[in-house]
Amino acid sequence: MKRYKVVLLSGDGIGPEISEISINILKRLSQKYDFDIEIKEKYFGGIAYEKHNDPAPKETLDQCKASDAVLLACVGDVKYDNLPRELRPESGLLKLRAALNLFANIRPVKIRKSLLDSSSLKKEVIENVDLIVVRELIGGIYFGQPRGQITNTKVKKGFNTMVYDSKEIERITEVAIKIAKNRSKKICSVDKSNVLEVSQLWRDTVSEVALKENDLTLSNMYVDNAAMQLVKEPSQFDVILTSNLFGDILSDLAAMITGSIGMLPSASLSSSGPGVFEPVHGSAPDIAGKNIANPIAMALSTSMMLKIGLNEIEAADDIEIAIDNVLSKGYRTSDLDNGNCKVLSCSEIGEKIIQEI
Ligand code: NAD
Repeated sequence: MKRYKVVLLSGDGIGPEISEISINILKRLSQKYDFDIEIKEKYFGGIAYEKHNDPAPKETLDQCKASDAVLLACVGDVKYDNLPRELRPESGLLKLRAALNLFANIRPVKIRKSLLDSSSLKKEVIENVDLIVVRELIGGIYFGQPRGQITNTKVKKGFNTMVYDSKEIERITEVAIKIAKNRSKKICSVDKSNVLEVSQLWRDTVSEVALKENDLTLSNMYVDNAAMQLVKEPSQFDVILTSNLFGDILSDLAAMITGSIGMLPSASLSSSGPGVFEPVHGSAPDIAGKNIANPIAMALSTSMMLKIGLNEIEAADDIEIAIDNVLSKGYRTSDLDNGNCKVLSCSEIGEKIIQEI
């Protein structure tokens, strides 16, 4: 029997509610497909700060490093917003990504037929959308030095550094190429090279790496235009390759094409070692504890974990099929309520998904 060690970081806000459903899905699938999955839950984010005064305790990071895959829900809450930056839950995320060398973040944006009416965009604009955002995750302005604030002067200053070297750009380009080769062989690299030197290096390096691939079409787009095009004609994109900051913003924008940020999963990968699989959304403090969160992004992240992290392809597909079946029967959480569906709670939708498996 195959055995897997998974670390679960359920984090803050809606994290524990949506995690419970993924745990039950994994238990069901392990029976159905006859694999053994050991799920170790560890403190991470705001809850880890409360317990250990550190949003990413060493014990948690060590367990993650020793695992086959990490399943992460979400972290953060306004109550932590005034803590020193290194103690905030979001800093824990950056620490985890750096500790596991997770340089590639992969965010598929796929329209589910039964949700065509749930998007704020017109049906005909979104119906053929099937794209992947490949975002560089451990470089760029979120990690660049120097960074800080100068506050002992009359006029205060804040500053960050957007920096990439060519090696960092090459390795994320190679990930995008690998993905594009199994799809339509089209990459659109997004930058701001008309203004930023770092983006010019990005564009030159991506072009150089992509030029070695005969059967690949590379286009380049400025990030402001990309934001506009994602709303105007999202189906023109297949693989979007971009840096940390631009990917953060564009992938949330792309998420809304699907109808709700509660639908989008992601995988963060290194060249070897465990990946982290997590929904794109945050901890949604406004709805935490109400049992109304959409657990589907977390369930789809669990599917990505099974597929990419554990190579359990059939079990992974099973989750996707179960979700499509539940949605096509008209069941929704309230974020997807279009006035013409059966609105269920987070736990009820979870039960429906498990019944379908
Ligand atoms: P958010 O994604 O938490 O919420 C944005 C909006 O989407 C809210 O209205 C929320 O209710 C809704 N939403 C999000 N997930 C949902 C779901 N599964 N079902 C239904 N509705 C959902 O973003 P935010 O409000 O900007 O941030 C809240 C906190 O989350 C902050 O502390 C932020 O730093 C943190 N955050 C964490 C992550 C992460 O853990 N990876 C990502 C983004 C934000």
